[in-house]
Amino acid sequence: MDVPDLKKKFDSSFKKITHLSELESLEKEYLGGKGILKSLILNLKTLSLEEKQKKGSEINSLKVEIEEKLSQKRTDFETLEIEKKLGSPEDSSLPAVPLSLGRFHPITSILEEVIDLFRELGFHVARGPEIESDENNFGALNIPKDHPARDMHDTFYIKDDPEKKLLRTHTSPVQIRLMREEKPPFRMIAPGKVFRHEAIDSTHSSVFHQIEGLVVGENISFSDLKGTLEMANQKLFGASVRSRFRPSYFPFVEPGAEVDISCTLCKGPAPACPVCKGSGWIELLGAGMVHPNVFKAVHYDPKLWTGFAFGMGIERIAMIRYGIEDMRLFYENHLDFLSQF
Ligand SMILES: [Zn+2]
Repeated sequence: MDVPDLKKKFDSSFKKITHLSELESLEKEYLGGKGILKSLILNLKTLSLEEKQKKGSEINSLKVEIEEKLSQKRTDFETLEIEKKLGSPEDSSLPAVPLSLGRFHPITSILEEVIDLFRELGFHVARGPEIESDENNFGALNIPKDHPARDMHDTFYIKDDPEKKLLRTHTSPVQIRLMREEKPPFRMIAPGKVFRHEAIDSTHSSVFHQIEGLVVGENISFSDLKGTLEMANQKLFGASVRSRFRPSYFPFVEPGAEVDISCTLCKGPAPACPVCKGSGWIELLGAGMVHPNVFKAVHYDPKLWTGFAFGMGIERIAMIRYGIEDMRLFYENHLDFLSQF
């Protein structure tokens, strides 16, 4: 058989190879010690010098070609074997799996939103420690010694602490810290965590978030308080929301008020509304004019200075905003819940 025909024969067999063992037997058939090419070379002896050179060179280039093809095919088989072991082969042309970007926790988002809102009104942010003295948390805020809030059942005290320090039960002690350091007039908000010895249920948690507001100056009046909170409520819950002030008692303000907003779901009394329970109003926060005894505790002259204060629960705002009935959802950190916001 001449060399071009042999090349055709090899190519046809080569195309049919599906396994490494077939490749190895083809290799032996053509390149082996007793293979086809070897016998062709042995046959050259019978030819003339000129023919010997011509056919010898043809055989040689066929040999090189066969070696290259077999070597490439062997590499292909080996790669396939590795990929089988590793699982499916990677295809870099496929679109990437989308990365899920993190986002703020709904409590953090609401907290930031409230801070931004009051910053626009000229309030600055003050912060205080979460472990507080009895004086800052209660005494200076006109909360008497026999007030139930000071009971062990309501407050976490630091164990065996000679100073009887406690985990702050509200953000109001930041008012005291600030007033001891600064002279009026000023407008400040104090966001942060607070702690109560509560049984945990759908509306109570032993740790939650508050934002405290305090404005002190000359001739600050209850109408300033109303105007500020009405505007804040509209920014937080929509321009059509109305605010209602009901007289209430907090030791550190006089007069004090509970502030409600008109129901964001039924927008008016609707007997079957699950949010306002048919009243048309939702309790939102506590506020009032700073009690003269609080000013006296920080050595401000109550005849010279007046002011208002308010405190709102961040979880409460988030629950109303998003229609959530169980605040425990905020702390369980299920991504199914959190990724909705
Ligand atoms: Zn309602």
